[in-house]
Amino acid sequence: MSDVRTNLLDFDREGLRGFFAGLGEKPYRADQVMKWIYHRLESDFGAMTDLGKGLREKLPEVAVVSPPKALVDKTSTDGTRKWLLGMDAGNAVETVYIPEPARGTLCVSSQIGCGLNCRFCSTGAQGFNRNLAASEITGQVWYAAKQLGNIPHQQRRITNVVMMGMGEPLLNFDNVVRAMSVMRDDLGFGLASKRVTLSTAGVVPMIDKLGEVADVSLAVSLHAPNDELRTQLMPINKRWGIDELLEACARYTARRPRATITFEYTLMKGINDTPVLARQLIKLMRRLAAKVNLIPFNPFPGTQFERSDAAVIREFQTLLMDAGVQAMVRRTRGDDIDAACGQLRGKVADRTRRHAEFQRRVEAARASEVQADVA
Ligand code: SAH
Repeated sequence: MSDVRTNLLDFDREGLRGFFAGLGEKPYRADQVMKWIYHRLESDFGAMTDLGKGLREKLPEVAVVSPPKALVDKTSTDGTRKWLLGMDAGNAVETVYIPEPARGTLCVSSQIGCGLNCRFCSTGAQGFNRNLAASEITGQVWYAAKQLGNIPHQQRRITNVVMMGMGEPLLNFDNVVRAMSVMRDDLGFGLASKRVTLSTAGVVPMIDKLGEVADVSLAVSLHAPNDELRTQLMPINKRWGIDELLEACARYTARRPRATITFEYTLMKGINDTPVLARQLIKLMRRLAAKVNLIPFNPFPGTQFERSDAAVIREFQTLLMDAGVQAMVRRTRGDDIDAACGQLRGKVADRTRRHAEFQRRVEAARASEVQADVA
């Protein structure tokens, strides 16, 4: 039988207070429970000693604190750690922890699979199943925090969260916003707003909506400086082109002057890495005070793309920097365990048939290679 109890990981502070009001409890009880859940990572109501006996006994009848469970837990030679977290029968998403000397970044998924089908992304090739619930997004952070021994405000293992895992976060807006609220709440994970970053492929109306409700950092997947190429790489560009996207970014910065905007640009050999395109990118970046994050392409089985050569990446970066555009090259982390950007696959019970089509293309390409070898 399925559990009908409410998973408290589904709520932000306001929602939890509402839930407690429904039980006839005062708002400060919700705040106490929130501290137990996120500061002490306690999931057993019986251990929440300051609640009073009555409430301690009532809560387990109506509520649970239920994070996802790891099906696989892998650690890279560079210390990057990846969990495959089971969500429901047949579905699992990946969450990645990237430790660095001065910070620890958790990369969190927002959907099971992804509907956008960006050509260079492994998640896109997996197809799409469904949005994650808020509890499944917050639950990823909770699970990782527990594994890592994270204590907000004291022993910070997770200093940054990036919504850069599987899925398009702005297409799961309400749940993502709620989970990001728990990440930023002092009674939650207590992260500063600018240390929570949402990455989007460019769902323009939702960028505006995000600006209305949250003060988080924004990362925008650009990957090409003109509409023709961007549409080939990212079908979403047919719906919202580069001009519209940059205008939405400008509105976001105007509304949220403290929030940073970064443009992500994955460098693929012979596709989007030429000096001509670097100059086009420079022109675009003149319109906004934004940084560019260059990502060396990370390969995955069946992809037609390759990573640009190191010298080409350096030249591309130098062209941008010499023109006054801040450009960083993102270090590749965790690629030995397929945990790098664009390599997350999870386990997706695909409902779009896209995965089957992708497999067919891969098979066909392999067959023609075999034929060419024979000839
Ligand atoms: N859907 C959101 C969140 C994904 S974030 C978005 O598109 O922004 C993951 C980042 O890695 C995105 O910038 C994505 O475009 C990039 N990426 C995807 N596949 C990649 C690959 N194979 N190599 C390097 N980066 C990739």
